[in-house]
Amino acid sequence: MRDNGVSNSEYGSEYGSEYGSRCGLIPAPSGRAYRVSSPAANAMVTREFADELRGALERFAIEAGFDGRRTVAIFFKPGVFGHHQLGRAADVYAVGGVGIDQWKRRWDDACMRAARTADPAARQVVTKTEPVTNLGWRLYKALQRYGRWAQPYGYPIQLFGPWTRAEGPWKYISDRLLRAHHDHIHVAK
Ligand SMILES: [Zn+2]
Repeated sequence: MRDNGVSNSEYGSEYGSEYGSRCGLIPAPSGRAYRVSSPAANAMVTREFADELRGALERFAIEAGFDGRRTVAIFFKPGVFGHHQLGRAADVYAVGGVGIDQWKRRWDDACMRAARTADPAARQVVTKTEPVTNLGWRLYKALQRYGRWAQPYGYPIQLFGPWTRAEGPWKYISDRLLRAHHDHIHVAK
């Protein structure tokens, strides 16, 4: 099944079959300013992917004001298709104890509130506060800025989430793929 050149599996699953073994995979690591709160089995990844992920997550956490004494929790759930079979992908479902879908709802509510507000000063409070306090959006942007994710030939960069259509990198994401990522952020390397 293809849609805008992207298969149902985020990236053609034919890729995975030749590597059956999950040997050599490690749990997505915690950093100093963030910690992985999900079971290790939820994100078993290659060392290369683990390093890329840790770098981006650490920068996200530090920029968002967390540190070694006050860490932010990152929660993964297992994925099944494509890069996941190789340990080269991970799905983040929650940050700071709040689901990605809830962060997105909060984001949309703030946008609507700002649009309805006639007073420019009051609108600024909303438009300036939300990008600072919304950890879901911040995480998405940090992964976009600081991670070098896979871009298989003929496929878009492998970063998808509820903000993809608005923020990129692949603004032409199909409705179906966008719906499939309404509650998590997928990255692959
Ligand atoms: Zn995924």
